[in-house]
Amino acid sequence: MDNLTKPIPSADKITTCLHQLNIYSYWDLLLHIPIRYEDLTQVYKIAMASAGTLALVEGVILSAEIIRKKTAYLEVKLQDETAIITLIFFKYYPNYATQYSIGKTIRAFGEIKLDFSGAKTMLHPKIQTIHASNQNKLSATFSPVYRTVKGLTQTQLIKLVDEALVQLNLAEILPSAIAKQYLSITEALVKLHKLTPLDYHNGVHKQALQRLKLDEMLTLQLIMHNLYNLKRNETSVALKVPQAVVDDFISSLPFQLTNAQQRVIKEIYQDLSSNRQMNRLLQGDVGSGKTIVATIAMLPAVINNYQVCIVAPTEILAEQHYNKLGQFLLALKFNLVWLSGSLTKSEKQSAYDAISSGEAQVVIGTHAIFQEQVKFNNLVLVIVDEQHRFGVQQRLQLQNKALNPHQLMMSATPIPRSLAMSYYADFDLSIIDELPPNRKPIVTKLVNNGRRQEVVNFVQSQLKLGVQIYWVCPLIEESEVQQLANTQDTYTELCNQFPEAAIGLIHGRLKSKEKAAVMQDFLDNRLQILVATTVIEVGVDVANATIMVIEHSERMGLSQLHQLRGRVGRGSRESQCILLYQNPLGMVAKKRLGVIAKYTDGFKIAHQDLLIRGPGELLGNRQSGLPILKFASLDEDVNLIPLSQQYAKTVLANNSDLAMDYAKLWHAAAGLYLKT
Ligand code: ADP
Ligand code: MG
Repeated sequence: MDNLTKPIPSADKITTCLHQLNIYSYWDLLLHIPIRYEDLTQVYKIAMASAGTLALVEGVILSAEIIRKKTAYLEVKLQDETAIITLIFFKYYPNYATQYSIGKTIRAFGEIKLDFSGAKTMLHPKIQTIHASNQNKLSATFSPVYRTVKGLTQTQLIKLVDEALVQLNLAEILPSAIAKQYLSITEALVKLHKLTPLDYHNGVHKQALQRLKLDEMLTLQLIMHNLYNLKRNETSVALKVPQAVVDDFISSLPFQLTNAQQRVIKEIYQDLSSNRQMNRLLQGDVGSGKTIVATIAMLPAVINNYQVCIVAPTEILAEQHYNKLGQFLLALKFNLVWLSGSLTKSEKQSAYDAISSGEAQVVIGTHAIFQEQVKFNNLVLVIVDEQHRFGVQQRLQLQNKALNPHQLMMSATPIPRSLAMSYYADFDLSIIDELPPNRKPIVTKLVNNGRRQEVVNFVQSQLKLGVQIYWVCPLIEESEVQQLANTQDTYTELCNQFPEAAIGLIHGRLKSKEKAAVMQDFLDNRLQILVATTVIEVGVDVANATIMVIEHSERMGLSQLHQLRGRVGRGSRESQCILLYQNPLGMVAKKRLGVIAKYTDGFKIAHQDLLIRGPGELLGNRQSGLPILKFASLDEDVNLIPLSQQYAKTVLANNSDLAMDYAKLWHAAAGLYLKT
């Protein structure tokens, strides 16, 4: 395989063009499959070539002359024994008369068109001159047309691909029983670049593409599997589950755990009590109760005198965890320590000290926990909330804070199944597929901003009932200052509209203490309306808040809207989510709003999001370093996922070295994942 990954020996000018196409090696070139083909394998009689088709015709030149109309053009008449066709060139050389000398035999390839008089014409056809030596010699294969850039011709590309094909000789990695059902990868690539009419007719083209898709998925699975094994083979501390403490704790909760919560806790405990490193992704819809699961996951660690940390992407969310866990764990008297970037120097120092001495049993905070100064005494469990906000690098940093701590990743919104199965296959999955009982569904309404007053009236009536309201303004990418201004305007507007209500304002520019104070006021119902930027997007939990108004919802992403909507519907009262939008709506915005209005199930929304945005964007930070699928689609080729998972296991068992070499060939860019 080495010969396929080496740089392509070619002139600098060509190399530059190839790089523009992201082609660095023969392998890249082989995967640069044609975008379409032209059929120059047979000559059509002019009379038989029908209008609208691409065809190759051959004939004798009758005339070649420049026609001077609005713009001058060259007109060549070509005749075979059935008819005459007119070839038209707006670009031509001064020596056209020799090039198209009367009586010469040429072939022309192009689209057959009919002019106003019904005569057949071709505009700018490709021309082959017939010499005595190549008479009748037609290409046996379709002519490939490749995506290219200025400075690199199709002919040059074809020549390079031919060189690459000479180097191509890959061993079959599929076991022979399975391989029988497919074209070999070598054959598939040859077929795609050198497609014959017969192969095309017999569906070989499709089969070849299918093999490419399969191998692309399969090698992605191999990389994930490899990563999974690397992680799982690390030994970690086996924790004894203190069953009595756990039972007491659970029965002291103000609610009963759902079956799904109980099930995932069991899965987590199984991992924690083995000496293999836990590497688990906890998925659950917004409001499904992941926080309590995380809390219960901590018990075996802390009771056995180890340290735990929980990291959240924003200060507000981390703080909520700090408060919430404080309540949950009050009776157990665990020592919780808070760490965020906004602490003073001396506050930080005392946090560091408590962490390194082991006095801090549960450390809660933001990215600040990743910092080098933070040294744990005996960290055994790392919990990362809203994991998609963190990059691979950051998580590796945490990994290094202790010898292989168990890891529990929590996702903010559900990850589509196909994405989870392919791009998260390096994790064990736990899914909370049930919401706590008695949740009233949230009614979602799309309201044109022109009907704002109706929303104001509705909110007025709801305020009388004693409910609380979120009023969210979107993040305006271009300008934080602008956003602040808009949020402030909204705040002023609402203060005028609702003079009796206590209204709070929260945004990213406030100091941590100020933010915390506003949140606390809202939580304690001292504020009835909270005007907020999207800082409250994730995690915030105020059960008495039942109305969510979102300004400019057309500017927000699906998972963001789902997250925001998930801030309400947390109590037993029916909740409303009002999405204000501004016309005109773009296509994508229209689709998104349609989806959010139609579905409340986060898994369904996630799937729609995948269809709208594609996997790259959904993966966010995780994508850095992960292979991007070029051939297979997580939507249309979803059936290949379980298949490639199954094959990956067999292939690894048969010859893991060969398998991994092949995976690296496909996904060289996945360096970070392969190195670990
Ligand atoms: P998320 O999964 O979105 O992080 P949270 O953990 O914030 O959800 O939980 C949402 C709310 O539901 C919290 O107020 C939490 O205390 C409550 N909750 C969690 N589990 C249950 C349950 N089994 N029954 C009732 N309420 C629950
Ligand atoms: Mg949460």
